Formats: sequence, C-alpha cells, structure tokens
Amino acid sequence: MHCPICGTCDIGRVGTNQYYCWNCLLEFSRDKGEVKFFYVESDGTLVNVDEKVEI
Ligand SMILES: [Zn+2]
Repeated sequence: MHCPICGTCDIGRVGTNQYYCWNCLLEFSRDKGEVKFFYVESDGTLVNVDEKVEI
C-alpha cells in the first residue's frame, strides 16, 4: 500500500478503505479503483481536495 500522490509507504489506516498519508497530510479512500482525497481541517472536518486544493 502506497500513497497514490507521492508514493510513500508512510501511511496509516484510519478506516475501511480509508488511509492517511503522513507525507501529503491528506486522507484518501480507495473504492474499486477510484481514489478520493480529503484535506482534514483542524476541527476534523473532511474537505474534498478537488474543492480545496489546486493540483
Ligand atoms: Zn502522499
């Protein structure tokens, strides 16, 4: 298991099909080949990265 963005294996599992990359500081989920990324606000709110960050 590696981060789809940076390729590091320094990730932690936070839920079913949900992971957190300690390098990107992003949470991502994998579902049948589809990967979605989330930015975690300081209060714990998950924000879809597509709306928050320009890649
Ligand atoms: Zn990463």
